[in-house]
Amino acid sequence: MKITRLEPIPVEVPLKQGMSTKTAHGEHVTSPYVMLKVHTDEGVVGLGEATVAPRWSGETSRGCVAVIEDLFEPALAGSDPTDIVKACATIDDAIKLNPFAKSAVEMALWDILGKVRGKPVYDLLGGKVREPIPIKMVVGAFDVEAALVLARKFLYEGFGTLKVKVGLDVEGDVERVAAVRELAGPDIPIGVDANCGWNVADAIRALKEMEHLNILFAEQPVGRDDPTQMAEVRQATSIPVMADESVFTPAEAVNVVRENAADVISLYPGKNGSILASRRIAEVARSAGLVCHMGSNLELGVATAAMAHLAAAEQTIDSETYPADILGPLYHDSDLIVDPVQTGPDGAVPPDEPGLGVAFDEDALDNFRSG
Ligand SMILES: [Mg+2]
Repeated sequence: MKITRLEPIPVEVPLKQGMSTKTAHGEHVTSPYVMLKVHTDEGVVGLGEATVAPRWSGETSRGCVAVIEDLFEPALAGSDPTDIVKACATIDDAIKLNPFAKSAVEMALWDILGKVRGKPVYDLLGGKVREPIPIKMVVGAFDVEAALVLARKFLYEGFGTLKVKVGLDVEGDVERVAAVRELAGPDIPIGVDANCGWNVADAIRALKEMEHLNILFAEQPVGRDDPTQMAEVRQATSIPVMADESVFTPAEAVNVVRENAADVISLYPGKNGSILASRRIAEVARSAGLVCHMGSNLELGVATAAMAHLAAAEQTIDSETYPADILGPLYHDSDLIVDPVQTGPDGAVPPDEPGLGVAFDEDALDNFRSG
């Protein structure tokens, strides 16, 4: 079997009314992503999704389309789509960085391999170690009133864990988290995510003021570039520190481990550039006695499926302690697939059909197509 064509499809899907979100990186009200079809000479088509965000990985929708058309297609055309490791090396050689574009290609190749073998991706990854995968919902860094509206809705819907976005100003952050804790009562685990928004002094002050609120984890309290800063914060708090923006690559995971900068490493295929790279990061974490967490960039259906397959199959992704962010479709007007990936208050479950187990809703693709 040979790859014949890579077909990127730029889309723009709004977030649901009242579900737009806000972090220290800015507001997220619409998702300009790129869907992907990898065509083969035997008619098998692999599906991918590049969940690009300029302020997250430096990738844009139009840039992603250009990378796929101008670099990845010529590099991969004529090669065997089931040689996934080789294909990843080929596209890594074609351009630096661009993890979400690379991840779209890699998940499409797993989809093809699964369809060829008649097995779901979680089986190809070694089988399931958990099902369902516990998940949580995310309350944006809004004022107290707006944050409570969201938190109340999620709790009413039955979600058992929340993450609250912080990292704007310490007083407002503490006030927001305290209000959500008061609403949720003592039994709902609550984590916070500063998305690099605090400096070291602010992070230490904020986490000290939150310690009595029984916080499950503090995600990326400070900037991504110097893990010694996160190590300093970690030394000063009893709240487990989670590295997210600090770890795009396995090498960055090694740095975080070396500097004792985190208790938990957040990963997901888009940020890491592939399911295989996420697994390498999981191996680094596991070898160092750490656990991992499945993070998110608010995916649509295809990338959500890829995350569910990986989270089900990778033991080190400790979703029992740190529930996963397999939640993107719950925030969007459409997930662009026919049957949604099962996710909600009862957790996420990867599809059992061959490959990723999802199919594009072609009408929705047309409706939300951009450019
Ligand atoms: Mg995060």
